Amino acid sequence: MKKWRMIIDVERCEDCNCCYMACKDEHCDNSFPGYSPGQPKHGHRWIEIFRKERGKGSLTDVFYLPVPCMHCNNPQCMTKAKNGAIKRRSDGIILIDPEKALGQKELVDACPYGAIYWNDEMNIPQKCTFCAHLINDKWKAPRCVQACPTGALRAVCVEDEEFREIIDKEGLAPYKPELGTDPNVFYKNLDRFTKAFIAASVAKRVDGISDCAEGAHVTLIKDGKKIGELITDNYGDFKFDGLEENSGAYTISIEADGFREKTMEVHLTESIYMGDIYL
Ligand code: SF4
Ligand code: SF4
Ligand code: SF4
Repeated sequence: MKKWRMIIDVERCEDCNCCYMACKDEHCDNSFPGYSPGQPKHGHRWIEIFRKERGKGSLTDVFYLPVPCMHCNNPQCMTKAKNGAIKRRSDGIILIDPEKALGQKELVDACPYGAIYWNDEMNIPQKCTFCAHLINDKWKAPRCVQACPTGALRAVCVEDEEFREIIDKEGLAPYKPELGTDPNVFYKNLDRFTKAFIAASVAKRVDGISDCAEGAHVTLIKDGKKIGELITDNYGDFKFDGLEENSGAYTISIEADGFREKTMEVHLTESIYMGDIYL
């Protein structure tokens, strides 16, 4: 059986909020019986966009993480819902039945991703429906996906085996797999949001004149083992990315023709820009 999945490329998201606005346009004041009553104009973010700033100074980067309902295979919301108020369709889409869910405010806290919102006026929990009313009407993608101008969002409806191939080929990963819900939203370049880097700018001073040390050889060492190598660019910059936050001590070694090798220790908690390092 084919199931719907969303694929989100973190490197392509520019935080323009077109997806969020398209969701509002589709669902605010629009009731789709059998799928969901209208979304309130305020307070609900059926697709939330988180922001992560890494580094500082000239080596700062900012990435965004759009997070809709993950339409999980093991949805904690469904387990905690009374009266079968949350159902999973055979195509993987998870829907809340507004009549059965009436008054079940505790469902807001049942989702570990924070994807369920409370509609005070109607006394019901609500969330992203994967635009199931459009999908049933033969649309190829939900509104948010169609509205994304950068192609950061994609929707696919494929068999498990085919999706596993896509995961391998594109290097996709779920967000916070440790929550144990087995999501159907997968991310490309997720490391940009969840992992850390060590970066610096290498410089040299010759005859009293400072210059960028392009072409220096930088080695990253952890627990006595070499785990990365880079060559500095024309600004003398290097960046080792994809490291675990709070992963402790690293050694950086820098070698360049005509200069003595330089080594230094770094303690990584979150992404760090070490500033200028003179050979
Ligand atoms: S529309 Fe696309 S680029 Fe804009 S915030 Fe949403 S996912 Fe990111
Ligand atoms: S993300 Fe939350 S609300 Fe959506 S299916 Fe998973 S547990 Fe349920
Ligand atoms: S899939 Fe539809 S309901 Fe879900 S966030 Fe996108 S536009 Fe909103």
